[in-house]
Amino acid sequence: MANIAIVGAGQAGLFLGFGLLEDGHEVTLFSDQTSDAILKGRLPSGMGLFEDAVRKEAALGLTFWEDVMTRGEGAILEFINPDGSVGLHICPPVARPHRGVDQRLKNSRWMQELERRGAAVRVVPLASPDELDKHVAGFDLVLVATGKGSISSLFERDPQRSPFAKPQRHLIGMLVNNFRPDLRSGTIRVLPGVGEVIITPFYGRENVKGRFLLLEGIPGGPLDQFPRELSGRELLAACQRTLRALLPGQLEDLKDAELPSEQCWLRGALTPTVRHPVGRLASGKAVLGLGDAVMLHDPLAAQGGNNATHMADFYRNRIRENAGRPFTAEWMQRTFDDFWQAYGQYAMGVTAGLLMPPAPHQQTVLTAAHHVPGMAEALIGGLYDPRSLFPWFVDPASTREFLLSKGVPPALMERL
Ligand SMILES: Cc1cc2nc3c(=O)[nH]c(=O)nc-3n(C[C@H](O)[C@H](O)[C@H](O)COP(=O)(O)OP(=O)(O)OC[C@H]3O[C@@H](n4cnc5c(N)ncnc54)[C@H](O)[C@@H]3O)c2cc1C
Repeated sequence: MANIAIVGAGQAGLFLGFGLLEDGHEVTLFSDQTSDAILKGRLPSGMGLFEDAVRKEAALGLTFWEDVMTRGEGAILEFINPDGSVGLHICPPVARPHRGVDQRLKNSRWMQELERRGAAVRVVPLASPDELDKHVAGFDLVLVATGKGSISSLFERDPQRSPFAKPQRHLIGMLVNNFRPDLRSGTIRVLPGVGEVIITPFYGRENVKGRFLLLEGIPGGPLDQFPRELSGRELLAACQRTLRALLPGQLEDLKDAELPSEQCWLRGALTPTVRHPVGRLASGKAVLGLGDAVMLHDPLAAQGGNNATHMADFYRNRIRENAGRPFTAEWMQRTFDDFWQAYGQYAMGVTAGLLMPPAPHQQTVLTAAHHVPGMAEALIGGLYDPRSLFPWFVDPASTREFLLSKGVPPALMERL
């Protein structure tokens, strides 16, 4: 069995660590923070996972919050008219599950659990690739899952696979309570030319059965006008005012929402980026990137953490198949390329697709999904499994046939 180092105690690194331990490997996890510091830190994300990823976590005995959290069920997509009323309402008849657990809670508990199951955990600030080089000389395989951390610059940006060169949205994410506590579905409201407002059930560190409120503002638009210096509570108040004006009558109960603490919010912008997966340390050692470190998504389509989980699972299988052989740079490149072909390109494609205004054939798909439940299911199903949207959602030549197969009447397809 191999002696494997994983750098980064996030969704990707920890999840892979559990799989590798189960396969009998020796696992050493390098983290820049203790589990206690992760738990007490600032909200890093609002990650919700869809059923396939949750099933993979459950298979490893990692879904510790099932009995206490509000389990997410279903997703609704709405297109908002310029006057703020709802235009298209796309709601699949079957509500498929998803789960949002605060990563401070999850990563900190998982880190302790990984150690309990036999991994060595080393808390070391690996500030640079040279620092990393000093610590990983003796390992058979080194996986770098440091997310947006600066060490991920070890992996060069791949311009061919990266859909954008700059952020397409400015983000505000908040864990709030006192807001739609019974709501189980996620809702994505698209305000054309303005951005998106997303609300999902979210189980937070403070044991709050809260909601994650995500504002995806198109740069320069009304969702991107909040002064930088606002505190979290001031920012929430400003968002409440703006959303009441943009979505009149739809989010009245947002006025009661509260921020449980000043650590429960974030602001920023992410450029969806794909990187070359093999990094070279000064010693010549090759290391393999995993998760956000090599495939960074804007959160609009909720693909980043799901993709990271599936990538980790894919790598686990490839490591198993490579038993007894060296983990060469060629093996690393092939492993990532095969994941990209099988899954990654579709996840990134959905992220990129949702960030762009819909093309004419996609407008027809959206109208069809508003009217025909089977189409609503197919469209929303593309978030749960991005592969299912291809080719019909991106290739106008195959859209008509797909819509017909879902029972969409030809009268709704006049523009195709
Ligand atoms: C607002 C927001 C909402 C989101 N919503 C969703 C969603 O609904 N669904 C979804 O699938 N995804 C979502 N995502 C994306 C998701 O959070 C990420 O894709 C996921 O966390 C990636 O996991 P990772 O392990 O690759 O990286 P991370 O979770 O970022 O983990 C990286 C870890 O590496 C550590 N690290 C960094 N540098 C070093 C170093 N030098 N040495 C050691 N450790 C280091 C960090 O401290 C961190 O613990 C969202 C993201 C944001 C910002």
